[in-house]
Amino acid sequence: MATLKITAVQTFITQPCGQRLVVVKVLTNQPGLYGLGCATFTQRHMAVKAALEHHIGPLAVGRDPRNVEDFWQAAMVNGYWRSGPVLNNAISGVDMALWDIKGKLAGMPCYDLWGGKCRPAAAVYVHAGGSTPEEAAESVRRFMAEGYQHIRCQLGGYPGTDGEKAARPDGAPPGAYFDAKEKLRRVPGLFEYLRRELGDGVELLYDVHERLAPIDAVWLAKALEPYRLFFLEDALAPEDVEWFAAIRSACATPLAMGELFANPREWVPLVAGRLIDFIRCHVSAIGGITPALKLAHLADAFGVRTAWHGPLDVSPVGMAANVHLDVACRNFGIQEWAVRPPLEYEMFPGTPELRGGYAYPGGRPGLGVEFNESLAAKYPPDDKPTDWTESRLPDGTLWRP
Ligand SMILES: [Mg+2]
Repeated sequence: MATLKITAVQTFITQPCGQRLVVVKVLTNQPGLYGLGCATFTQRHMAVKAALEHHIGPLAVGRDPRNVEDFWQAAMVNGYWRSGPVLNNAISGVDMALWDIKGKLAGMPCYDLWGGKCRPAAAVYVHAGGSTPEEAAESVRRFMAEGYQHIRCQLGGYPGTDGEKAARPDGAPPGAYFDAKEKLRRVPGLFEYLRRELGDGVELLYDVHERLAPIDAVWLAKALEPYRLFFLEDALAPEDVEWFAAIRSACATPLAMGELFANPREWVPLVAGRLIDFIRCHVSAIGGITPALKLAHLADAFGVRTAWHGPLDVSPVGMAANVHLDVACRNFGIQEWAVRPPLEYEMFPGTPELRGGYAYPGGRPGLGVEFNESLAAKYPPDDKPTDWTESRLPDGTLWRP
């Protein structure tokens, strides 16, 4: 197999259920041997497609698909400037596909390439919520009845319930209005209620979604400490990470961070400083499996666990990569899981199955996922601009989504 080469890199965009999914197929000169990867940046899908078709794909063609690390390093520095989410996603599409190919060549699932299973399946957390504590508790109870043991609970979802009620100045521009102080007023009471109603047998999580001013995030983390969260998610924006030290010194609420990270300079200080408890990057946004494995091992050395981002804007191929990492890395913490619609299982046979609160990787070589291209073609993407990210404070100030 000395002459094994990449012959083509194909990019597919499909929108079976709301989110635009970007899937990459890497073909080789060995008949039948190909790999699939996830390059899903749902808000910038066409930019990723262009990066793949004009830059990253042509760079990959002709190379030996077995040299995954060499390709990843070459792709990262090829444009000289590096580490942005568009290019990282494009690189991830090829990187994951090369790991898929390597597994197929070895006849092993990817988790076996990475040291084998540390556990048979990955525990997941799902998303519950309601507009009142009573509704939220009902939503959590429904998930508990299905066997979930880790449940994130929001009040009013995103951005919150009070934003539309707050008085706005004349001329306030359109947007998703929210009142950041609502979290301080209502969220401690929500968790006090959930613990009282549901007891201690369920793990509860809360996502700040980087919406608070830093000092308010410190206050909220401290106020939630008595309710023993599994973790508090994205308490701060990436621009405010120096404030994690203040949260740490104020309370022992476990902290999870990293959904928006794209560069090692963002996660290394938090992990090495033991300022967070869970690192939860979006694997394709950091450049794929190659950097995720390095990050997981770095985190392990500092007692930080993984919690890879897992919303519906990760394709099933990307979720398979997450679950293979989850079972193979000793310092796995939890896997975020958005319940996948049946159509996605039909479009991506081999998507990890969910049973009783656990996600199971398939046992087939590589990532174990197939892609029904003709079914995907029936769900072309729209090009609608994203609007949920235009969040505003009551006075009209544009804020973080
Ligand atoms: Mg989140």
